[in-house]
Amino acid sequence: MDLTIISTYRCNSKCQMCHIWKNPTLPKDEVSIETLSKLPGGFDNLNVSGGEPTLRKDLAEIIDEVYPKARVVEISSNGLRAHRIVPIIKKYPDIKVRFSLEGDEATSNAIRGEKDGFKIKLEGIRKLQEAGGTDLGFAMVIQDENVAQLAQMYEMTEEMGLELATSTLHNAWQFYKNDNFFYDRLTVARQVEEIISKMLGSWSVKNWFRAYLNLGLIEKILGHDRLIPCVAGTGFAFIDPWSDVWACNVRSDLQLGNLQQQSWEEIMNSEMAKKSIHAVSECSQNCWMVTTARTAMRSEIIPQAPKIGPMAWVVYNKLKSLVGGRIDFDKYIDYSDVRQSPHVPRQSYLGTKEKPIIVTDRQGVDGHYPLKSFVNN
Ligand code: SF4
Repeated sequence: MDLTIISTYRCNSKCQMCHIWKNPTLPKDEVSIETLSKLPGGFDNLNVSGGEPTLRKDLAEIIDEVYPKARVVEISSNGLRAHRIVPIIKKYPDIKVRFSLEGDEATSNAIRGEKDGFKIKLEGIRKLQEAGGTDLGFAMVIQDENVAQLAQMYEMTEEMGLELATSTLHNAWQFYKNDNFFYDRLTVARQVEEIISKMLGSWSVKNWFRAYLNLGLIEKILGHDRLIPCVAGTGFAFIDPWSDVWACNVRSDLQLGNLQQQSWEEIMNSEMAKKSIHAVSECSQNCWMVTTARTAMRSEIIPQAPKIGPMAWVVYNKLKSLVGGRIDFDKYIDYSDVRQSPHVPRQSYLGTKEKPIIVTDRQGVDGHYPLKSFVNN
């Protein structure tokens, strides 16, 4: 199982597609190391994210606690405070680190509301490379404003010896946002094709399967059904800053339990978990985030191997690319079927004075996630 620990909702970016920064948690309420010590071992990918995890004073201790419990430990950061991660990488060079970067300097800084963010992240990632990091990269949220720079971002990361993780706009309780919609789904979707071709043309097996992940992103962008059913609650789970455990980070009705009050075993065997996992099997949302997609792609028999479908797609199209053939995207994707969605303008918060709203008495799920409804279709 993959696990994401949302260690805090404090954040020092001001993203236009994620409003965590407007809804910070209080440090005293955030999931403690004592609570995390109740996690069992044996996770596959364990991601320490936020908000911005480097704002946790005890990030190094959190990593010490979870490192032995997973095959891969990941830190998802905005990259503005790389100095907090350098000592962690010196101690555990194989920790996966992804810094959010949304395109070239002007685009990334505007989308993320970060003054000088682009330069700071590039310097930061180099510091992690110097510290000996072996699995470093950037993560990009594909949206109308940056999709034209996707291929360029991929080339930049390849040249720098880094990875590029991609996701797209979506709505989720984790982001305190339920009105993220593409302006022009078809144009965005078509521009993802280039990176798929480039990834399949590379000599990295990881990139070949990322090509398939990006194929799923095209379906998601157009509003089509998922390529593979979701495995929320069984293949992956989330812990939020209040120690609540969730099947996914999208629907705020899929809670599994609370790690402060229960053991992991009690949570996983609870009636609440059973009900939520059943609801997942009937969920009609078309989420395709890295966590949901990667876990859904895994074989149920050999978890380190992919399912037959993605494997067959990768092998066929890799062989085709080797003999100079092009991927026939129209064979896989019905571009005539584009879901309509409302036009909700996004605004850059770069240079704005808007401040986080500190709420001291957020009680229960309704207090934590007042927007309640989070839909991706
Ligand atoms: S498809 Fe449904 S259960 Fe799966 S991540 Fe999306 S909202 Fe959650």
